Amino acid sequence: MVGRRCQAAPIVNPGLHADATPTTRLCSLTCARCSSSFEPDAMRGSCSCGGPLLADYEGIPPELVLGDLWSYSWLLPVADVARRVSLGEGGTPVIEAPRLAEALRIHSLYIKNEGQQPSGTFKARGASVSVSKAAESGHRELALATAGNSGIAWAIYATRAGLTCHVFLPTWTARETTDLLRALNADVRLIEGPVSVAGRACADEAAANGWWSVGAWAEPYRVEGDKTLGLELLADPRTSSADAVIWPCASGIGLVGTWKAGRDLNRLGMEARVPSLFGAQSETCAPLHEAWRAGAPDLLGDGQPWTDVGSIARGLLAPAPSAAALILRAVRDTGGGFVTATDQEIVSAARLTVRLTGLLLAPEAAAAVAGIPALLREGLLSARSNVVVVATGAARPSDYYAWSTALATPDALTPLTIDS
Ligand SMILES: [Zn+2]
Repeated sequence: MVGRRCQAAPIVNPGLHADATPTTRLCSLTCARCSSSFEPDAMRGSCSCGGPLLADYEGIPPELVLGDLWSYSWLLPVADVARRVSLGEGGTPVIEAPRLAEALRIHSLYIKNEGQQPSGTFKARGASVSVSKAAESGHRELALATAGNSGIAWAIYATRAGLTCHVFLPTWTARETTDLLRALNADVRLIEGPVSVAGRACADEAAANGWWSVGAWAEPYRVEGDKTLGLELLADPRTSSADAVIWPCASGIGLVGTWKAGRDLNRLGMEARVPSLFGAQSETCAPLHEAWRAGAPDLLGDGQPWTDVGSIARGLLAPAPSAAALILRAVRDTGGGFVTATDQEIVSAARLTVRLTGLLLAPEAAAAVAGIPALLREGLLSARSNVVVVATGAARPSDYYAWSTALATPDALTPLTIDS
């Protein structure tokens, strides 16, 4: 959608009477694949068909106002206030980037800076809600497989809640990450092979020991935390009328959370319009981009994982995202799409961003900036577009030296291509 713009207005329930007391509650969990419905306290990880579960709410909502994560508790699944596990997550700054917008030849650009979250990435949102719900439901041991950032976020929130977090990682994981996880009181399990093998080991151990799986799409509550970023964008007059939101996209759970923010508000009778959602993928690992291009409802090739993937943006490497059909639906519902970036484009975009904004982005976040020239070339954005980039995280300490060396080396890499 090019140049679409509508009036920013307070988002309220038109059916809300002045004397009504706003009150909402989690009413069911619905499978995104087969539409089976489950009781809200079922504490199921996923549907028996394997599809991801989405939380549904009912009642009379309050007005949508800008706040931190738990200010949206009326649209979150944790009923017991005492069970909230919080470190001040959410409510992150939106940084206006006029010089970067001018360089990229778009009308305006805002950067949602998730680098200020307690874990340094947007994963703090999902971890806060996921761990809170697990604690409320009586789970004491959590398990997930990850290449890094999710493990750090869940370890932080689990240890704050006094829960045990078992983190399964490939043996090639950076020493800094495993040291940090151990410092955060996590049980670190190193598994030979790619993350998918660590994932199977995690699932087996979780089933054998009765641990609650908290990996991406393994339970319905992480996306609820991620949804609050979308609520913040819709509540903020600077971003609520944007034409496009660009998300770095691997498991797609953050992007789906932004889509679900609008869906949940609409279901409660509130008029909210989510901007067109775009996912930025690594050129070496772009199964969602490929499926979207083909007009397919799910991954091509029977969902076989992409092979020979590799990028400086390791967090983008999801060779076969399990909720692909839902991610594609969210993108198409909003008139969005996908774009890919090479490592050279990612580095160039990060260099341009830090020089014109002062923000040193993680490479995954820089991929979203790197996608803008391609979206312009393809006519999916225009010079009139108002764009939001979700900067999912700041540069990681373990990356910092190599990353800043790459950014500081002039002419070592191809500059970002910008059409005149
Ligand atoms: Zn199902």
